[in-house]
Amino acid sequence: MGRGYDVVVIGGGHAGCEAAAAAARLGARTALLTLAADRIGEMSCNPAIGGVGKGHLVREIDALDGLMGRVADAAGIHFKVLNRSKGAAVHGLRAQADRKRYRAAMQAALQDVAGLEIIEGEAAGIVCEAGRVVGVNLANGDYFACGSIVITTGTFLRGMMHLGPVQTPGGRHGANASIALAKSLEQHEFALGRLKTGTPPRLDGRTIDWSGLAVQKGDDQPEAFSLLTTRLIEQQVVCHLTATQPATHEIIRQHLHLSPMRTGAIGGVGPRYCPSIEDKVTRFADRNSHQIFLEPEGLDDPTIYPNGISTSLPLEVQRAFIATLPGLEHAKIMRPGYAIEYDYIDPRGLKGSLETRKVKGLYLAGQINGTTGYEEAAAQGLVAGVNAALGAGGGEAFIPGRDDSYMGVMIDDLITRGVSEPYRMFTARSEFRLWLRPDNADTRLTARGIALGCVGAARAAAFSAKNAALSRGQALLDRLSLTSAAALRAGLRVNQDGVRRSAGDLLAFPDIGWEDVARIWPELAEISPEHVQILQTQARYAVYLDRQGAELEALHRDASYKLAESIDYRAIRGLSHEIAGRLDKVRPRDMAQAARLEGMTPTALTLISGLAKREVADARRRA
Ligand code: FAD
Repeated sequence: MGRGYDVVVIGGGHAGCEAAAAAARLGARTALLTLAADRIGEMSCNPAIGGVGKGHLVREIDALDGLMGRVADAAGIHFKVLNRSKGAAVHGLRAQADRKRYRAAMQAALQDVAGLEIIEGEAAGIVCEAGRVVGVNLANGDYFACGSIVITTGTFLRGMMHLGPVQTPGGRHGANASIALAKSLEQHEFALGRLKTGTPPRLDGRTIDWSGLAVQKGDDQPEAFSLLTTRLIEQQVVCHLTATQPATHEIIRQHLHLSPMRTGAIGGVGPRYCPSIEDKVTRFADRNSHQIFLEPEGLDDPTIYPNGISTSLPLEVQRAFIATLPGLEHAKIMRPGYAIEYDYIDPRGLKGSLETRKVKGLYLAGQINGTTGYEEAAAQGLVAGVNAALGAGGGEAFIPGRDDSYMGVMIDDLITRGVSEPYRMFTARSEFRLWLRPDNADTRLTARGIALGCVGAARAAAFSAKNAALSRGQALLDRLSLTSAAALRAGLRVNQDGVRRSAGDLLAFPDIGWEDVARIWPELAEISPEHVQILQTQARYAVYLDRQGAELEALHRDASYKLAESIDYRAIRGLSHEIAGRLDKVRPRDMAQAARLEGMTPTALTLISGLAKREVADARRRA
């Protein structure tokens, strides 16, 4: 007789931590089952959180009271807003974290979550009855009964590490691969594919000659990810820059035949946007230099992460090419770079809630769904955790939309289009990116989170105080106004059309800044600096958002035409085999999702829209 839970989360990586914390926040009795409790919150690769697109996800996780933003703030030792010279919609806060502090802060955050039990052990198989999960078998013979399971096993499913010709089974450096669970998923007829990723060698900072290297400073006034963060670590570090040389490329080229990518030892596809140095040297053969950022892994840790030089060439080749980089002539490799190949499950078999269509109560999140990156994993973990708790309690699913979050964009992309390479987030993936800004993530999501029950009292109070302050600020901006002639007299270049413009209207002009309106109306000084930035961004984007209204309306209209799960697409006359097959695989929930399917044609859409309209009519009749 085993223990019983509402939700069991398998894996304590970025997806697993968020999933377990979210499920427990919703009141589910939750177990986080992971191979090594002391490695919970481990950053397997780069010691950094955020960036463009990824930083947006972190803000959204925070808006739903997730952990990643707070933990990154607690461990951050170098904060920088990327893309600062561009519009606020594409600003990307990135924090380099002290790797050990990140892990410790995540473990401490989980300890604080009521109703969450952390258990060290290996999940060996899922147990189902009548098409739904009922429990988890552990490798040590234990059994946990449960209502829902979230699998977040990252790179561990049949993980195989490659270093030159040497292959070692493992989920990442120093961890066993997860074989039994992969077999169990296969027995339940999940289609598994192979993907790969890689990591650079770690260097001993004490053996680097820093003297000639350019310094990269963080922001003078670092911004935090979380609304709840009140202070950051005082001691912030700098990074340094070096670059590959023609000699580096020559050594790599000469040894390409030893790269497991070339020998055929690795068959899985790697992340195109995070290529290995072998890939860079071959794909961008005309470039004879690539920038390498030397990033400290911690405050009291000499380890340096050379960002941009991931490799699986043999150790002696890594040593040789590293020595050609300025400053690294005598650098000691503490741990070689390597590549890892692992199983993933085709995400087109998932619903928008991240529940599998095959097995009720089974949810998948993170790298197992074909994504890459901590933030992508964490965002999926949060959604899956909320839904696992809702599902176990019989509640309606939480499905974030493309129009309210990057989480929604990512999940919709995954379940509608699947992956042919590891998926990472970019702002260009969203058609509503002017609205999906990092500064308004809480406006978009927190109220929904409160309604779902996944936002705690402290955040709800902070959110409400922030909203009240912003409303007061906005009211002031709307109330203060002047004529076009008065604006000109104040030095502002606006059309001389006699129109009275509010301070908010003036801020929409690209060449009018806060300092200009604050000069005219000293009472604006009562708005705190943290809210000035948001109000200014809101004013600047308001006009573009109005234009996006029509697109949003079309999306909502198409989304209101539901497609029943039971439709037999292969029986629809006139629908090609190929499109019927895709519809059958993805089972879009509405016309909006169907329209986004790869290869969808106007004719096919017309054919299925009849079904969707009939569904609406039936629903009305039933109501
Ligand atoms: P992970 O963080 O991998 O966590 C998986 C968890 O599952 C672990 O806690 C593990 O103990 C647990 N687990 C596994 N099997 C079982 C089981 N049977 N029972 C219980 N627990 C289990 N990302 C990038 O964005 N860019 C990169 O360049 C990059 N390079 C990488 C290089 C390497 C070598 C590795 C290993 C990863 C790399 N990543 C990279 C990926 C990044 O680490 C992942 O995207 C991220 O960690 C995924 O989070 P996750 O929660 O899905 O899984």
